[in-house]
Amino acid sequence: MTARLLDGSAVAQQIRTELHPAVAAFTARAGRPPGLGIVLVGDDPASHLYVGSKLKSARETGLRADLERLPATASLSDVLAIAEMLNRSEVHDGILVQSPLPEAMGTDAERRVFDVVRPDKDVDGFHPTNVGLLVQNRATLVACTPSGVIELLERSKVAIAGARAVVIGRSDIVGKPMALLLLHRHATVTICHSRTPNLASVAAEADLVVSAIGRPGFVTPDFVKAGAAVVDVGTTPVNDRGIVERLFEPGSKRRDAFERRGSLVVGDVHPDVAGVAGALSPVPGGVGPLTIALLLKNTLTAAMARAGWA
Ligand code: NAP
Repeated sequence: MTARLLDGSAVAQQIRTELHPAVAAFTARAGRPPGLGIVLVGDDPASHLYVGSKLKSARETGLRADLERLPATASLSDVLAIAEMLNRSEVHDGILVQSPLPEAMGTDAERRVFDVVRPDKDVDGFHPTNVGLLVQNRATLVACTPSGVIELLERSKVAIAGARAVVIGRSDIVGKPMALLLLHRHATVTICHSRTPNLASVAAEADLVVSAIGRPGFVTPDFVKAGAAVVDVGTTPVNDRGIVERLFEPGSKRRDAFERRGSLVVGDVHPDVAGVAGALSPVPGGVGPLTIALLLKNTLTAAMARAGWA
C-alpha cells in the first residue's frame, strides 16, 4: 500500500483563501483589519523562521501583524510587560508569544505568560480559561496545531467519529488538546507518552495515529495498522548525518535536501510507514502550514468576538 497524501499545504491554502473575504468584510465594517501581535524573544533560528512565516501569511491574508522583539537577555517581566501592553491595545485582537522562551527565564516562564494573555486575545488557546472551555467542548479559541490536524482530517475525509485514535505525546499545547478535539468528535482516544509500555502495539490498534513527540522516525511501520491514517506533528531540526542516513535512502528528495543544506526538519514518522498507512501527512508540508492558517483564523475569530459580531 502507498499511503494517500494528507496535503497540509493545500488545506492551509484553502483555509487562507476562505479567510480572505471574511477578513476584508471585517476590515470594511470595523474600519481596521484584525490585528495580531507577536512577541519574539532571543535569537533561536527556528523561532525566527516560524515568526517570519506567520507575519508574512497574516499580512498576505489582510491582517495587521506586528512583531515585538526582545533580546535573549530580556527578563520574564519584560515579556509580561509586552503581553500586558498588547492586552490593552485596541488594534490587536490576538497575541502570540513564540515558544520556546530562553531557558534562563525559568521552567514555568511559558505558563506565566499564558496566564497573563487575555483569554479573548489568546489566539494560541493556551490560557487555562480557554483550555477549560475546550475540556467542556464549549466555543473558545483552541490551540492552532491540533485544530489544524482536525481541519486536515475533516477536509481530507478521514473518518473521526467511531475511530480508535491514538495520540502520541501529552503536552499542554499539542497532545492534550489534540486528544480532546478527537474525543469531542466521537473518536475513542488513547493518549501515549514516554511511560507507555508497548507503545507500538497500542498504536497498532488505532485507525488514526497522531504523533507529537519530536523524535525523528520514532513511529515505524510496526506502530501502524494497515490502512490507518497517520498524522505527523513532529518537527525536529536534524544535522546528524547518522539520523538522516537511517531514515532517507540515497538519492531521495529528503536526502538530497540534507546534502545541499547540511540540516533537515524531520517528523516523528519513519518514511517506511507510507507502505502501511492508508493516509499520511508529510513533514514538511503537513501540519506546519495548518498551524499558521489556524492562527489567522483564530485572530479573525477573536476580532469578531471582541467586536460583538461572533
Ligand atoms: P513536548 O512539550 O516536548 O512534549 C513531547 C511529548 O512527547 C511528551 O508528552 C513526551 O512524553 C512525549 N515523548 C517524548 N519522547 C517520547 C518517547 N520516546 N515515547 C513516547 N512519548 C514520548 O513537545 P510538543 O511541544 O508537544 O511538540 C511535539 C512535537 O511537535 C515537536 O517535534 C514539535 O516541534 C512539534 N510541533 C510542531 C508544530 C507544527 O506546527 N508542525 C507545532 C507544535 C509542535 P512525557 O510527557 O512522558 O515526557
